Amino acid sequence: MTETLLKDRVEEMMTALAKLGKDERGYTRLAFSDADMEVRSYLIGEMERAGLTVREDAFGNVFARTRGNNALPAVLIGSHADSVPQGGNYDGIVGIVGAIAVAEKIASEKLPRPVEVVLFMAEESSRFGVANLGSKAMAGMLPEDAASFYKDSDGKTLGEVMAERGFVAENAPYKKRVRAFLELHIEQGGILESQLSPLGIVTGIAAPHRYRLTIGGRADHSGTTPMNLRRDALTGAADMLLRIEELAQANARKGVVATVGQLDVYPNAMNVVPGKVTMSIDLRGTDEDNINSLCIAILENVDAIAQKRNLAVQLETLTEEEPALLDEGLVALGEYCAGEIGERTMRMASGAGHDALYMTRIAPVGMIFVPSKNGISHNPAEYTEMADIVRGTNLLYHMVKRLAEE
Ligand SMILES: [Zn+2]
Repeated sequence: MTETLLKDRVEEMMTALAKLGKDERGYTRLAFSDADMEVRSYLIGEMERAGLTVREDAFGNVFARTRGNNALPAVLIGSHADSVPQGGNYDGIVGIVGAIAVAEKIASEKLPRPVEVVLFMAEESSRFGVANLGSKAMAGMLPEDAASFYKDSDGKTLGEVMAERGFVAENAPYKKRVRAFLELHIEQGGILESQLSPLGIVTGIAAPHRYRLTIGGRADHSGTTPMNLRRDALTGAADMLLRIEELAQANARKGVVATVGQLDVYPNAMNVVPGKVTMSIDLRGTDEDNINSLCIAILENVDAIAQKRNLAVQLETLTEEEPALLDEGLVALGEYCAGEIGERTMRMASGAGHDALYMTRIAPVGMIFVPSKNGISHNPAEYTEMADIVRGTNLLYHMVKRLAEE
């Protein structure tokens, strides 16, 4: 009965949203763009229709609350609605739609503790090169110069873009106490599908450590410089990135991954021995110590290769974000509630970042994953079965109900 009610509402909202911000190449709802604002307005309308009290903070994050005893810390549930360029209609959307459906149902049950839906703004890094801006603002973690420092590809600053929408690119700390924050999200990977497990209970969220490595050699004539006199920065880079892959593979069971996704070669000419290469290194894991030990091993190996090849190396840290373990009590609650409604779950870590990561600064946090078809996300082919979305929403409902009854 509950499940049917949730299903009807979720289907209705997913169908309406499927028409917004779409062209023949997929969904493009970049942060604070017209399409993003159109989706936001639609969702606010649905929150009001659900009988919730809606407000927004200075950053533009939206909050929609059920009636309850406001002296009690609320249960927060939600996700984001912006997208990457040419993405799908599931990343973020599943979580915000599920949260609205759950809050609507809870509102009719008159539970003591208020439940509040949160729509986070600017989760994706596609427009401003940095992710989770809305949840960082709520957690008071935006840098002071965020308004002028972050720019989009047109050179517009975050501050300018947000001012056009009537928002301010500053911290907007969430002041009230929070009982728990729960986020329903698509997995964006293929583990659930491969394990035939419909629901994931997330135990931790990986965070990226990102570096830029500059490898200096010497640009020389490709015809006149004998092989033994070369200081080729690109063959050195090749040696290093293969070593990085090997080290990450050797540490795979510690839940860490390493990626070299970007190389810039200078002068990048066919007849010149490469004199300089810059290389990105992206390390992720859910355990800070494991990330750090992989990082140290990589640096030792990079140095050794540089020495052997007579190259200079310089490492610049771009970001070292802290991963977070989620609340054990909420993991247990998720498993307990799933058992009650006869759903199978598996525990898993999230390789992708989420707003939930920053909410750990202000609340105990839990996350539910639903499967992504073929593990595909950030792509128009992104897809999650409606039955799985409803399963995840139903589990979210049962967890929220438990927490709101306390
Ligand atoms: Zn997302």
